[in-house]
Amino acid sequence: MRRNFEITMKLVEMQSLLEFYNKTEIHGYCLSCPDHNRNWSCPTHDFNEYEYLKKYKYAYIISGKIIINKNLNENEIIKKFENERRIFSDLLIDEEQYHNDSIALIAGNCYKCDRCTKLDGKECILKDEMRYSLESLGLKVSDILKEILNQQILWIKETTPEYLITVGAILLYEKDDLVLINGR
Ligand code: SF4
Repeated sequence: MRRNFEITMKLVEMQSLLEFYNKTEIHGYCLSCPDHNRNWSCPTHDFNEYEYLKKYKYAYIISGKIIINKNLNENEIIKKFENERRIFSDLLIDEEQYHNDSIALIAGNCYKCDRCTKLDGKECILKDEMRYSLESLGLKVSDILKEILNQQILWIKETTPEYLITVGAILLYEKDDLVLINGR
């Protein structure tokens, strides 16, 4: 699948990433999301997010910058962003196969099924394939981007943003070079 985003990444120790953990604040934002409680990858979780993250020793923080054509209208921008964030997230999930016991944190909520079973009060049907996002685990993405990758999130407001950014991570038990994401 063709990538229409520019990758930036940095490897950090888990302890550095956990400095951005603030579950109370981040999950507070989730309460006002229109998709709140509609997808199993989103909070509230039945496990301790901090402990989930702390198991790993390292994290590649990875962003994908999507340049936005200023002639696109808002709906077209959203469609483009949604398409690219899935390609970006698939790439992160595909990278897992090269690193023992690694796990990808995708950009945004899980998109594996056309309709998440949470909407019908049923269990997730693809538990092995479902992935969480940084936000979903209580991490403040805007600060991570700024402090670790030296990048800034732009939003769709009155004017067309120059770019939009998707953010994810690969969590590792040992230091390793990335394979697919590096384009090798
Ligand atoms: S795999 Fe399907 S059921 Fe599970 S969280 Fe994702 S969309 Fe929902």
